[in-house]
Amino acid sequence: MSDSMSLSRVRVATTSLAGCFGCHMSFLDMDERLLELAKVVEFDRSPLTDIKHCGPCDIGLIEGGVCNAENVHVLREFRRNCKTLVAVGACAINGGLPAQRNHLDLGDCLQQVYVKRDGVEEGGVPDDPELPLLLDRVHPIHEVVRVDYFIPGCPPSGDAIWKFLTDLIGGRTPRLPHPLLRFD
Ligand code: SF4
Repeated sequence: MSDSMSLSRVRVATTSLAGCFGCHMSFLDMDERLLELAKVVEFDRSPLTDIKHCGPCDIGLIEGGVCNAENVHVLREFRRNCKTLVAVGACAINGGLPAQRNHLDLGDCLQQVYVKRDGVEEGGVPDDPELPLLLDRVHPIHEVVRVDYFIPGCPPSGDAIWKFLTDLIGGRTPRLPHPLLRFD
């Protein structure tokens, strides 16, 4: 990373929408490089911090697709506040494995899980207004907001996330060499 970037810290927010936290685990797979990153980055809202809302940021990293109303709300908050928004992983890019539910009827799914499943007695689909309503389909994030970059993989490797971030923070156009590109 260039010396000039270390003068003012880059503010980064991260979130998991309809994700499994695997992309965040890959972020942590940068291992000791996290210490180097911590010299130039400060974190805003993230599962790694206790900040509840995304404030003005340089980079927003989004894991997971959009499967419920709260995901839409959070994603729009990130887009409003982050100069550069990045779809991290297959779920954010194309809905990922959770989007396999898109060819099923949502009502049938809910009935199957909460009412008809073996062992469920007197079940009912949860309907507390505190719970976010599911969308009828799982959407990639680019169907809801504009996305600046995509890092493929399920999950992308820690090496790929490191290369991407050091390029971006260093003022270079992020480029992943072929060995770091994966979709599985
Ligand atoms: S892309 Fe893979 S690792 Fe990342 S949130 Fe989706 S399922 Fe999990």
